[in-house]
Amino acid sequence: MHVGRFERGKVIMARLDYGTDIVEGICEVARSAGIKTGVFSAIGALQRAEVGYYDQETHEYHGNVIDQPMELVSCSGNISIRDGTPLIHVHAALADRDGTLVGGHLQSGTIFAAEVCVQDLEGDFLVREHDPTTDLFLWGGPD
Ligand code: ZN
Repeated sequence: MHVGRFERGKVIMARLDYGTDIVEGICEVARSAGIKTGVFSAIGALQRAEVGYYDQETHEYHGNVIDQPMELVSCSGNISIRDGTPLIHVHAALADRDGTLVGGHLQSGTIFAAEVCVQDLEGDFLVREHDPTTDLFLWGGPD
């Protein structure tokens, strides 16, 4: 287990622009605020999205394109360092007109409306390192 302890820093509330990408938008909010470690959540609606599923056997992501308007029911993730720069990791649950949910690792999403809350965490940086067991870049550091 890898454990990091942090103090709460500033909180940024942002409305992202119509027609832009939500993953890039959250990145820009974090970058412009100088946040290198943090957590975030967002709600709103997307015009289309691509969510990924990580195949635990093949160690590959499979993207599922959702090419219809969806409610962004829940979107959350974290910010940590990979290869010296902040990287955001985003998961989302999306609902169609009937309320049926789909979701996964959010790779991209075109915004209809999106409200984001980003919490800066102060302390040591969380750094992602390659994990040979999962073939993912996970938080490293002292065991
Ligand atoms: Zn993920």
